[in-house]
Amino acid sequence: MIIHNADVLDTATLTRRTGYDVRIDKGRITDIVPTEAGHHDPDAIDATGFYLLPGFVNAHAHTSMAILRGSAEDVDEHAWFNEYLWKYEANLAPEDVYWGALLGAAEMLFAGITTVADHYFMGESIVRAFQEIGIRADFAYTLFGLGDDTNRKFDEVLRFNDMYRSRCPRITLSLGPHTPYTCPGPFMKKVVETAHQTHMKMHIHVSESTEQRDSYLKRYGKTPIAVLADQGVLEEGTILGHAAYATEEDLELIATVHAGIVHCPKTYMRFGQLPDILPRALARGITVGLGTDGDASNGSYSILESARLGALLAKSVMLDATTARIEQVVPLLSHGGATVLGQPDLGSVTVGAKADLLLVNKQTAALAPETNVWANLLYALPEGSIDTVIVDGQTVIRHRKLQTVDLDTIIQQCNQRAPSLVATRGKAIQSYPD
Ligand SMILES: [Zn+2]
Repeated sequence: MIIHNADVLDTATLTRRTGYDVRIDKGRITDIVPTEAGHHDPDAIDATGFYLLPGFVNAHAHTSMAILRGSAEDVDEHAWFNEYLWKYEANLAPEDVYWGALLGAAEMLFAGITTVADHYFMGESIVRAFQEIGIRADFAYTLFGLGDDTNRKFDEVLRFNDMYRSRCPRITLSLGPHTPYTCPGPFMKKVVETAHQTHMKMHIHVSESTEQRDSYLKRYGKTPIAVLADQGVLEEGTILGHAAYATEEDLELIATVHAGIVHCPKTYMRFGQLPDILPRALARGITVGLGTDGDASNGSYSILESARLGALLAKSVMLDATTARIEQVVPLLSHGGATVLGQPDLGSVTVGAKADLLLVNKQTAALAPETNVWANLLYALPEGSIDTVIVDGQTVIRHRKLQTVDLDTIIQQCNQRAPSLVATRGKAIQSYPD
């Protein structure tokens, strides 16, 4: 594949190259060369009038929760878990998770997200959906360490991991212990041993609220992040969803082992929270990616929105317009998340990188004038201007139309299924700690 005459905006390095051809072979960028006047391959994608960007990376999500969007609004985090979501999730069947994953992945692709780090259950349904739609993913099958059946469920996940480990070219797997409060010490020990034996990284939620952090301090005299460090969960490559209320000592631990933090500002803001983690983590040089969490808490799957709100939240909470600067936040759209996932060949437009790319229509009112293209990207780019989305060298969206699956059927299925999923509240599988 050749992308002809593109205006290349590499968000990883904030470099711009106008008038370049990008060649792709076997899913990777093989050449980036100035466009020759008069020479035009008839099979090339003509990118005249388009920016070419690396696809965005959503480093923490629960994609299937798209089917539960709007089911718990204007409630705090405690009620969201205990009164709504954990009761609704008990109603989900594998086909609901499958259609929810297709809906969520479609939403992400239209928003320019080419890679998602997903954390959920019923992995077979999710992997099937991701493969059909063509999104790249790192999937962590959620592990709970509470309840009667944890050993059997853990073994099931191990079997799933064995079966899917190298089966799908665009999908990698992580181990997904849910949180410190749902995974007691002995269970976590098993998870860490398995991670080391199988050479898998871990993806976990931690310190999502002051409530979680403070209840650990009261009960154990340690923060949940310090407990993860003791247990061996906190190590190089571990993906920490949120860590929104990490203390300075926690950040020191995270920086020392080179774990990554995924910031999901819209979810925090919808829960009425005001964390200052982004500027503090950036100041320490910690690897940071952006996430959306699930649609049921975040309301949408957009990494542009996470970046925008992340920058604005940081400036507001610090009362400082000079913090979370454009050159710090724009690289988080793709390269930051790729680094958190330990996949350095994602998230940039360079020779050898995986060909996950976006074409953005420059004939867009919000993108003119080009006084500062990076500011336009961070603060103005409408997702409707993302015309073409390429994953692994495959065009999955062309001229705003999904090429791989039928969007109308997905929307129809989710509209049909959602009402019964939220009509009754099932038995919650866990409870959010007091
Ligand atoms: Zn989450």
